[in-house]
Amino acid sequence: MAQISCPQCRSATPRAGFGFLKIAVAILFFPIGLLILLTGRKPTACRQCNFLFTT
Ligand SMILES: [Zn+2]
Repeated sequence: MAQISCPQCRSATPRAGFGFLKIAVAILFFPIGLLILLTGRKPTACRQCNFLFTT
């Protein structure tokens, strides 16, 4: 999974929104799955400090 660095504490945290399961769902339910991908994006929460940020 892609990892991004928290803008607040600089620690690496897994990126939210495009997990493996969502990508699998998008492929299985194409083209409706693409809508799930587009609407399913959530802010990423840092595992270290719980800081919420969008990517
Ligand atoms: Zn953080």
